[in-house]
Amino acid sequence: AIMRLLPPNVHTYEGLLSFEGVDLMGLSDDEFRRRIRWRSISMVFQGAMSSLNPVIKVGHQVAEPMLLGGSVDKREAYREAMGLLEMVGLPREVFDRYPHELSGGMKQRVVIAMSLILGPKLVIMDEPTSALDVSVQAQIMNLLKRLKREQGLSMVYITHDIALASDICDRLTVMYAGEMVELGSAEQVLTSPSHPYTQKLLASIPRLRSDAKPTFIPGAPPDLIGLPSGCRFHPRCPYALELCRREAPGTFQTDGGHETRCWLYRK
Ligand code: SF4
Repeated sequence: AIMRLLPPNVHTYEGLLSFEGVDLMGLSDDEFRRRIRWRSISMVFQGAMSSLNPVIKVGHQVAEPMLLGGSVDKREAYREAMGLLEMVGLPREVFDRYPHELSGGMKQRVVIAMSLILGPKLVIMDEPTSALDVSVQAQIMNLLKRLKREQGLSMVYITHDIALASDICDRLTVMYAGEMVELGSAEQVLTSPSHPYTQKLLASIPRLRSDAKPTFIPGAPPDLIGLPSGCRFHPRCPYALELCRREAPGTFQTDGGHETRCWLYRK
C-alpha cells in the first residue's frame, strides 16, 4: 500500500503518510511514480524467485529502473548495475546469467541490488529471507547489516521472525489485526513489552536458556472483514476491561517510552 502498487479497484488510502517532510498522500499517482517509487522508497518483495523475469538477463533487470528513468545511457546503467551486483557479493559473471541459473540466495541478492539502483533513502523489505534456508538467511542478514552500516540505508523490515527483527532493527513495531499496537526501541520492546499482545507473543517463543515453558495465546486472530468491537485484541486479552469491548484504544505513552495502543496505559 505504501508503494501504491495495489490494484486501483481494491483499495482506499486514508490517513497520513509523510516521508522527509513530503505528504505522500497528497501526491498524484504520476508524481508518486516520478518522485518517490524506487527513487526515494524502493522495495524487496517476498520470494525473490518470483520477483525476477525469467527471460531477461539479470544485469539488464538490475539496470532497468535506471534505463526507464531515461536520464542515463545503457552503458552507464549497466556499469552501475555491475557495481551493485559486486556490492551485494555476487561475481561479475552473474550479470549475463538468467535467473534460473542462480541459487535462491543469489537471486535474493540480485533483488536487493535492484532495489538500490536509484539510490533510495528507504527500502521496504517484505520478509526478504523467508524462502531461504537458515545459512543463506544469515548471509543475507549480514549483507543487509553491512548496507545499513556502510551505505546508511534505512529499512522497514517486515517479518514474522522475532529473532531476525531483534538482530537487525533499531526500532520495532508490533502489529496485530492490521494495526500497530506497540512501538519503541527494539531493545525496549523485546525486554519490557508493554502491550498484552506483545507480552503474549514473546512468552510463546521457546527459549534455549530457560526452563520456562512457552505459553500460547488463546483464540485465533480475527477475520479482518469482521473485526471485534473496541480493542481488536480484547477477545484474547487476559486484562480486557469493559471499556476495551466498547471503545478502540488510542495510542498512549508508557513510562518506559514506548507507544502502545492499550487502555491500560491511559494516564
Ligand atoms: Fe487488552 Fe484492553 Fe489493552 Fe486491548 S485495550 S490490549 S483488551 S487491556
